[in-house]
Amino acid sequence: MLQIRNLTASYGPVTALAGVTLHVREGEIVALIGANGAGKTTLLNAIAGLVRREGEITFTGRSLMTVAPEELVSLGVALVPEGRQLFAPLSVADHLLLGAYCRHRRVPAREIAADRERIFQLFPRLQERLEQPAGTMSGGEQQMLAIARALMARPRLLLLDEPSLGLAPLVVEAIMTTLARLRKQGLTVLLVEQNARAALKIADRAYVLETGRIILSGAARDLLADRQVTRAYLGRDYKEFTDGR
Ligand code: ATP
Repeated sequence: MLQIRNLTASYGPVTALAGVTLHVREGEIVALIGANGAGKTTLLNAIAGLVRREGEITFTGRSLMTVAPEELVSLGVALVPEGRQLFAPLSVADHLLLGAYCRHRRVPAREIAADRERIFQLFPRLQERLEQPAGTMSGGEQQMLAIARALMARPRLLLLDEPSLGLAPLVVEAIMTTLARLRKQGLTVLLVEQNARAALKIADRAYVLETGRIILSGAARDLLADRQVTRAYLGRDYKEFTDGR
């Protein structure tokens, strides 16, 4: 569904992506893990057309290299950005309406209303807080709303940038469970995470990004057991690691 070949991106003299090649098949959850500054956000922003990039990105066979960020949503790709990027004074209802902005002219209002009902089944808390300003909600609720806003565009591919950021473990688990549920409903997911363990638990496959390069890839369960990944990203075997140096 998504094919990226030899993708590069720089910020002035800083190379953020140095020739990244990866793919996401329809129906998969693919995790992209890596430390701070590895280039994870840049990769998602490059797919979304938010940073200047070179190389090749195709979505269902169509090149995204000349597609503007605002057109991408209509093609079926939605980004849940790092830090949620909600509008603090706007209500939950407003955000859901905004998420469907590209569909208002094309589909009947009842279809959008039905999508909103489906969102409420997924996130009952949002229905309870419909008129609450987003800025007054908890971190977990805000993350749910950011995902819900993206889902209102009816994407085929969801790009998520660190949904676990700053959230308590139980909330992270709830978010990951929801992503696994969405996959069962047919959604394809590219999940960027620093919380490698949480991401690998629900992912089918994963890539490890280090200073702009993919250094490792494979089945998520294999990476969960991989010594290099365990040491660098899962926080186990630290003593063994330091002793061995
Ligand atoms: P984090 O998990 O901390 O968000 P990341 O893996 O998402 O990290 P990026 O945010 O993509 O990493 O950053 C990759 C590299 O590009 C880093 O060295 C960062 O300092 C640099 N970078 C990112 N944004 C900019 C910018 N706007 N201007 C200059 N350099 C940038």
